[in-house]
Amino acid sequence: MLFSELASFFSRLEETTSRNALVEILAELFGKTPPDEVASTTYLLQGRLAPFFKPVEIGMGNNYVADSIARAYNTDRAGVLRRFDRLGDIGAAAKELAEESGVAPPPERSLEVSSVFNCLLEIAGISGAGSIEQKVQALSGLLTQLDPLSALYLCRIPVGKLRLGVGDPTILDGYSFAKVGDKSLRKRLERAYNETSDLGLIGATLWNHGIEAVDALSISVGNPVRPALAERLPSAEAILAKLGTCGVEKKFDGFRCQIHKLGDEVRVYSRNLEDMTGMFPELAEGALHQVAADTAIFEGEALAYNPLSDEYLPFQETTKRRRKHNIADTAQELPLRLFTFDMLYVDGENITPLPYTERRERLGRLIRPGDTLLLSEERVAHEPAELLEVFDDALQGGLEGIMAKKLDAPYQAGARNYNWVKLKRAQAGELQDTVDCVIIGYIYGRGRRSSLGVGALLVGVYDPERDVFPSITKIGTGLTDAEWREVRERCAPFVSEEKPARVESLLQPSVWVEPAVVIEVLADEITRSPVHTAGKGEGKQGYALRFPRLVSFRDADKRPEDSTTVAEVITMYGQQGAKPVPA
Ligand code: ATP
Repeated sequence: MLFSELASFFSRLEETTSRNALVEILAELFGKTPPDEVASTTYLLQGRLAPFFKPVEIGMGNNYVADSIARAYNTDRAGVLRRFDRLGDIGAAAKELAEESGVAPPPERSLEVSSVFNCLLEIAGISGAGSIEQKVQALSGLLTQLDPLSALYLCRIPVGKLRLGVGDPTILDGYSFAKVGDKSLRKRLERAYNETSDLGLIGATLWNHGIEAVDALSISVGNPVRPALAERLPSAEAILAKLGTCGVEKKFDGFRCQIHKLGDEVRVYSRNLEDMTGMFPELAEGALHQVAADTAIFEGEALAYNPLSDEYLPFQETTKRRRKHNIADTAQELPLRLFTFDMLYVDGENITPLPYTERRERLGRLIRPGDTLLLSEERVAHEPAELLEVFDDALQGGLEGIMAKKLDAPYQAGARNYNWVKLKRAQAGELQDTVDCVIIGYIYGRGRRSSLGVGALLVGVYDPERDVFPSITKIGTGLTDAEWREVRERCAPFVSEEKPARVESLLQPSVWVEPAVVIEVLADEITRSPVHTAGKGEGKQGYALRFPRLVSFRDADKRPEDSTTVAEVITMYGQQGAKPVPA
């Protein structure tokens, strides 16, 4: 396919907000895409050159992209940046200049998608002395061979602003419609996605070898597995009633890590599947020494811990390790331990179908004694009192609660269900768990707040079925001046002139924000609301958070699609008023 044709599809997607229409356009696109371009087309739709877990970045910001545009259309950087300021989009600046310069070829003489993709991959691979100049030159070379609309989308990719409004579930539906005309393949595709985290791989497998080959895709070392997640229940009694006799562990408050070991090579992936190996070198080192297998995938929670005083450091301390500079020094000052709690794969065997007790037993054999990898202690609870003992012990140690685990459950990648249940401490009058919300807009401040630029936030949750972000509350209190400023800075790259495609809101904020910045919010209660769209059905009210306040920024470890889901909010609403855990 020509890149110009792909650019026309991008343009149609960008103009569409109806989810059904988006799926139809994607199905038409994939219906025309040659099998060997399905993977690259998928990554380009995500504004990327590789799956999210591969750190392949083009490495050019607005200024360098502006240099490439200037070089392609015989102008200077300042001239490009002036247009960028006026239009608010570096791609639109490129398109305007391409149209005016007369350099750009017509769409029918544009390059093939695969040529553009390979050239972008080459640019990403350039490093070392003089690399910026080579990148600028290569991108400008590409631009001179593309029509104006193609130039627009091409220039948005390096700066991370493609913004087509299609999330992963929509792409999976697009595959299914392209192949069979309905979404009946979605569940099978989703299973493969949960185990490989690579949409491009799934698309390429489907087109080249068919759905049975997709069914055969499975967990492998080097592809992070989408994590199994926990449900909530309000009390020890409710947990035992649901799970029966269960495993109980402390709930550690750090970073979830999935470790992949392949011989001497170790990779550490975060909750949202980013490669964190460089940031947490001691975990990789620990895995090399303490894992008694050639290949393995296992999970744990990483946090700073003082074994002498048996003290778990609070999350605010552990989080200092999320940094890109001075890694060696901070690792010395604040070494992480990994409390391992589950195992997915060992020496060629996918053990996720095995019952939890067997996986735990194998984990016990996998981890050799040592300083860095520790086994999270587990107790089997038959009675609420036994469960509450672990709970009290966890709270004594400064932790926030426990995790209860169903003894005969498999590991279900990407699923949030009652195989794991979390129970957290709650203060009187508070919801028992926080809600992860994504910022979808903000309202300008008045009076003293006007100088901070933000007076209230409009936030939403995620509806994975429909791949949209409906609103759930406004947050107007509880932030310090510094936090208000920080909110504004974090939102700045995602400000949108119009309501972003996947946002659903009846309220109109002063400024719309693309769903990107995830925050953890504590509220007193969930109420029904005519104003908010989360869970709002035909003729029914939505759900809202009452007295919400910001607890922390979570964008370092959560993608917007990892926000709390509408279904979870509805379950939490149903659980309100149950007997709280004695604190
Ligand atoms: P989630 O990760 O479920 O979206 P969240 O980020 O809000 O939710 P919590 O609800 O506080 O986090 O707890 C779930 C997380 O707890 C797990 O993802 C994992 O990182 C962490 N965790 C800590 N201790 C354990 C344990 N013993 N077993 C399993 N998970 C644990």
